[in-house]
Amino acid sequence: MEPDAPMFDAESFGLTPQQVELTTLCRELGQSRFQERAARYDREAGFPTENYEDLRRNGLLGICVPAQYGGMGADYATYMLAAAEIGRYCGSTALTFNMHVCSCLWTGRLADDLEMTAQERETHERRRALHYRRIVEEGKVYAQPFSEGGPAAAGAAAFQTTARKVEGGWVVNGRKIFASLAGHADYYGVLCTEVKENGELRRRDTLYLAVPRDAAGVRVVGDWDPLGMRGTVSRNLLFEEVFVGDDEQLMPQGAYYQAASRWPHMFMTLTPAYMGLAQAACDFTVRYLRGEVPGMPPVKRRMYPTKQLAVARMRIMLEQTKALWVRALTDARIDPSKEQVMRAWAAQYTVMENANELAQLAIRTCGGQSMLKRFALERIYRDSRCGSLMLPWTAELCLDRLGRAALYEEGESDD
Ligand SMILES: Cc1cc2nc3c(=O)[nH]c(=O)nc-3n(C[C@H](O)[C@H](O)[C@H](O)COP(=O)(O)OP(=O)(O)OC[C@H]3O[C@@H](n4cnc5c(N)ncnc54)[C@H](O)[C@@H]3O)c2cc1C
Repeated sequence: MEPDAPMFDAESFGLTPQQVELTTLCRELGQSRFQERAARYDREAGFPTENYEDLRRNGLLGICVPAQYGGMGADYATYMLAAAEIGRYCGSTALTFNMHVCSCLWTGRLADDLEMTAQERETHERRRALHYRRIVEEGKVYAQPFSEGGPAAAGAAAFQTTARKVEGGWVVNGRKIFASLAGHADYYGVLCTEVKENGELRRRDTLYLAVPRDAAGVRVVGDWDPLGMRGTVSRNLLFEEVFVGDDEQLMPQGAYYQAASRWPHMFMTLTPAYMGLAQAACDFTVRYLRGEVPGMPPVKRRMYPTKQLAVARMRIMLEQTKALWVRALTDARIDPSKEQVMRAWAAQYTVMENANELAQLAIRTCGGQSMLKRFALERIYRDSRCGSLMLPWTAELCLDRLGRAALYEEGESDD
């Protein structure tokens, strides 16, 4: 098999040696292993267990574990570029991988940028060492359940899942929906709200706790038969009087709230899966029109001017999407400017909407036989539809925030 070309060539996009190394590793794994398994995970709505074995064997579970803890020490942009190469071959693997990697990015590079007291920093160092050891030495996988079906995941209210302080730890109660890796992760990195004495739930009291999969009171409930991203197995989780020890606190009190307001690009980590799908839709179209897709009817279609125009339009959309996305990745930092945050919303919207737009253009251009289930395009089309739904930066919420931010400066109102 001819190796696929990189999505982001090193010279044009100024990739660092580590970015070249990790994007190459992910592309090779994707092309040689994940690609052929993707149809089965999709058909069965089954978790990509074999892909996780490959990620584990290649050290990729520790991609964002800082080097001093035995991980690869990749920064935000490096992770994003590498994960996009995974999404190109299996959207569900890339999306679930994001949930796992966030548990390392948030507690690692992001937490290093946040303000903490010396005592908090010391405790955080000790606790994250434990958490990283599980990942690097034992190959453990983390999920990231925060959605509850209400305004909390949109950043508009406190999480209704609660944590009550007790001797030696916390007691967690609540329900999460759409928990990717449900039943397959070793730990659930749960966002919940610390219950204060007066019972009030406030966003600034958000806690980030690792709940072991087999802790008493944890249940995976509901079925999973969705349109797309079927391999994510995003079932619901119930927590009923679940006790976790103090060391399961992944970040100090208040740190998540600080990160969400000061490191907003943390919410863009859902995009690489869809950036990869956008590339996959274009890759498929070119191969199909050239008559190179295995199992396709033996007819080339590239000589028709309408096909050429359609491919040109797709290429332009792909280049626009990549350029804006990489620009936004490079902007990611603590306390970004208003311009940089607006660009991040624009990039998120663009990737999520364009991935699906490209997939639908691909089907229209390749023609009826291209949407048969034996080809990847049909799955890419369904998977790509899910991107705009991901909170807190859904396509709608990005538009909402961008419009307001463009027209109002801080403190302005029309009252
Ligand atoms: C394949 C897949 C995998 C997922 N994996 C995970 C995961 O691992 N972890 C996780 O936590 N979540 C995950 N999600 C969930 C996702 O992030 C969203 O939370 C979910 O899609 C929201 O569904 P909903 O029907 O509640 O949406 P909505 O009804 O759109 O949103 C829920 C609430 O958000 C607020 N809201 C939504 N839109 C607006 C708006 N325009 N203006 C103001 N408020 C608004 C409202 O309060 C609304 O009730 C996944 C989703 C999918 C599709």
